[in-house]
Amino acid sequence: MAEPVTVPVTDRQDGGHALLTVSGLTAGYGGPDVLHGIDLVVGAGEVVAMLGPNGAGKTTLLRALTGLLRARNGSIILRGKEIAGLSAHRRSAAGLALVPESKGVFPTLSVADNLRVNLPRHRPVDRVLTLFPILRERLGQSAGTLSGGEQQMLGLARALLREPAVLLLDEPSLGLAPMVVDLLFDTLGTIAAGGTTILIAEQNATKALELATRAYLLDRGRVGWHGSAHDALLDTRVADTYLGIADGDGPSVPAE
Ligand code: ATP
Repeated sequence: MAEPVTVPVTDRQDGGHALLTVSGLTAGYGGPDVLHGIDLVVGAGEVVAMLGPNGAGKTTLLRALTGLLRARNGSIILRGKEIAGLSAHRRSAAGLALVPESKGVFPTLSVADNLRVNLPRHRPVDRVLTLFPILRERLGQSAGTLSGGEQQMLGLARALLREPAVLLLDEPSLGLAPMVVDLLFDTLGTIAAGGTTILIAEQNATKALELATRAYLLDRGRVGWHGSAHDALLDTRVADTYLGIADGDGPSVPAE
C-alpha cells in the first residue's frame, strides 16, 4: 500500500470541503489491474455521478472504496482519515454505506426485520418510512417477495439508517421500469436535498446527471472525463460518447 496522499486544496475538483478523496487507486481481481489509478473527490453535500459503459470499472471502484475488494495501491481519505487499510466493517463504521446492484436486502426476512438486522438500534425507522411510504404497507412481507423497485427502496432505507457520511449507490435503476426509475430518482433528489452526500454509479446517464452536481466518466478503469453534471449534459463530446451509452451501444470516450 502506498503512503497516504492528501490532495492539496487547490487540486480539489469540488472547490469546497472534500468528504471523500480518492488518489491513485488501483485494484483488480487476481489478474491485471482493473482500476488504473483513479483520482476522485466527493465534497460534503454533493451528488457525484460515476458513469461509464459495462465493464468500465464502476462496481469495482465501489467495491474497492468499501473494502469488499482490497485496493492494490492508492489512498482513500474519508473525513480526513485514511481508510484504505481498514476492513469493510470498519469502513462502514467510518461512514461508507453501499447499496449494491443486488439491493443489499435479506430476501427471507420481513421488511421490518430488514430495517432492524445489523443496524444501530436507536436509529429512527419512522424517518425512513416517511421517505418510502410503500415500505410501511409492506412491513410484514418477506423482502424477497417485494418488487424490484420496492427492494431498491428497502436497500436504500437500510443504508440511510446507518446515517452514512457518503451513500454509495451501484446502478440503482438496473432492471426497473421507467416509471419506477422516475420515482426512485425523485426520492434520491429528496434524500440529496436533505443533505446526504451521494456517489452514484449509473448507466442511465441522463437521470444520474439530472440528479448530480458533478460527474466522472470511467473508461476501462480510468477517469476519461470529469466536470460539472451541467457541462456533461451540454458537452457534445460527452453527450455523444456517454449519453448514448445509456442504451449500451456508445463508443469509449477518448483520453483527455
Ligand atoms: P457493469 O455495469 O457491467 O457492472 P462496471 O462498470 O460496474 O460494469 P465492473 O463490474 O467493475 O464494471 O467490471 C470491470 C472489469 O472487471 C470487467 O472487465 C470485469 O470483467 C472485471 N471483473 C468484474 N468483477 C470481476 C470478478 N469478480 N472477477 C474477475 N474480474 C471481474
